[in-house]
Amino acid sequence: MHAGVDTERAQIVRLFGRYDCLIEPQLVEYLAAKDDPGPLAEAVLRELGEVPFYLTLASFRDAEERIADRPQDEDDGGGVPKPAVDPAHAELEAARKAALAKMLEMVYDAQRGDLETADDLELDGSTEPAEAPDKRQHVEPLARPVVKVNRPKNWDPIASHYDGQIKILQDITGQSTCEGNTGDFHKYFTARYHAMEKLLRKRRELANAVPIERALDAPGREVAIIGMVTESRTTNAGHKLLEVEDESGKIAALVVNNDRTDPALIVRAGLLVPDEVLGVVAQKAAKGDLLIVQDLIRPDIPYNTERIHAEEPLAAAFLSDVHVGSDIFLEKNFVKMLQWLNGETGNERERKMAGRIKYLVVPGDMVDGIGIYPGQEHNLTIGDIYDQYEYFGELMRAVPDHVDVIVQPGNHDAARPNEPQPALDKEAVSKFDGLNARFVGNPSTFTLHDVRVLSYHGCSLMDFATSVQGMEHHDPLPIMEEILKCRHLAPIYGQSTPLAPEHKDYMVIDTIPDLFVTGHVHTFDTRQYRGINMMNCSTWQGQTDYQKMLNFKPNPAMLPIFDLQHLKSTAMDFTMGMDFTYGNKVA
Ligand code: FE
Ligand code: ZN
Repeated sequence: MHAGVDTERAQIVRLFGRYDCLIEPQLVEYLAAKDDPGPLAEAVLRELGEVPFYLTLASFRDAEERIADRPQDEDDGGGVPKPAVDPAHAELEAARKAALAKMLEMVYDAQRGDLETADDLELDGSTEPAEAPDKRQHVEPLARPVVKVNRPKNWDPIASHYDGQIKILQDITGQSTCEGNTGDFHKYFTARYHAMEKLLRKRRELANAVPIERALDAPGREVAIIGMVTESRTTNAGHKLLEVEDESGKIAALVVNNDRTDPALIVRAGLLVPDEVLGVVAQKAAKGDLLIVQDLIRPDIPYNTERIHAEEPLAAAFLSDVHVGSDIFLEKNFVKMLQWLNGETGNERERKMAGRIKYLVVPGDMVDGIGIYPGQEHNLTIGDIYDQYEYFGELMRAVPDHVDVIVQPGNHDAARPNEPQPALDKEAVSKFDGLNARFVGNPSTFTLHDVRVLSYHGCSLMDFATSVQGMEHHDPLPIMEEILKCRHLAPIYGQSTPLAPEHKDYMVIDTIPDLFVTGHVHTFDTRQYRGINMMNCSTWQGQTDYQKMLNFKPNPAMLPIFDLQHLKSTAMDFTMGMDFTYGNKVA
């Protein structure tokens, strides 16, 4: 793995390079030996204030010690209420999240190229492949995969006795209207506001919400408004100050952090994300344009949602983040999974389970793509994105004919990067010829034997992880829960999730699903929130150098399965006793 180590060092150098800072070789070695060098480097750079042109190991260590020695309780004086979060810890946390955001930005800068500003967006909504000469780098393609599947003669999978029933409920594919000028973004945010307002009005507390313009004119009275959080910051005294906007105006809203405030409200304020639309119940100050917040209301999911289940004993399996073309694509494990799917391996119970799989959903990143992150070319075994699809298509031909495949793009795939992403481009689709496959957009809401599935690749999971204290990308379920409460898949604008200014907000969660599936963070995990099953898929790729740099620990070679009859999730383990030493969750 010499190439890998070199790439990691190059990334350390590049990180400092962004601050115009050259670093001593000993410091590179020192950081390369750390598990999680990015956040540490970022914290030290902040500590240094003015970043020197040349940074030595000695001065780096000095600054590092100063951070470690800093007293935990700094007197902020004046009887100001103490913030709920310890400031020293909060500062380190913020630095860590800033480092993560910066590294993600590097990823997306590389990927998006000149699709930087709203004005530059070229979004005609067609599914033609974008002009991308760098998507073809001439590395000799690998020989075709050899998948030896010997389906047992006597295997009679129960799923083969039923026809597939797929209905698409919401999908951008073929519906894109945006032309990509800034006016579109205005329309987009207006559409978002109205869609969210409709959901929020169903909340009893907001039934009488007034336009902000009218709230401004209600000194001393209790008011309810619905607005977009355009700014949010913590004051020196630890209060949370928001700026909330609707079409009629904007107003500052203060969440006071003292012992008279409901602690639950303080927690809720800490979980707010930029650009989300929510309800504010507040007391208008007697003087000045300020609201004193009494409650913050998200649309959330109502209790007792009516769950729909299939009458038939069928199941769906989910296969995200396969990353074909990467030199650490776990092909052996993947082939093992295909053999199981054909009833070739496993005990009686496992073979029975394989026989119940009627649907195979692929929620994005089936290939590794080209030019997605800096230095990726050193980690590819197939250097042409369409050759990667060819290889993936070849592997998928081993999926039994009675299984319906649903293919959705992710950020590594050949589709426009801006969400909502329409289905894969034509050339990629052509590599699935002869397969029983349907191509949907990202996100997409569809039913499988009447069970409502919301499938989203999951780019915004990273934005929650870098914006919200306590949220981590290796722990996606709490983030998925926040997404459901917001009823919006990607509220945060301008970070790592590129959005397209469609005239309708496809990221709003209108239909309450029975199953909410995401991928992208390469971890398998599942649980319920208010009667909705949430599931993050695993991956079929080991740990990349880039992920190592981000201290990102994948949990590969698990196949999540959703039982459509009993609405229960489980997973098949194809780790084959491989030691994923960087932290395999599987016992
Ligand atoms: Fe991925
Ligand atoms: Zn991804």
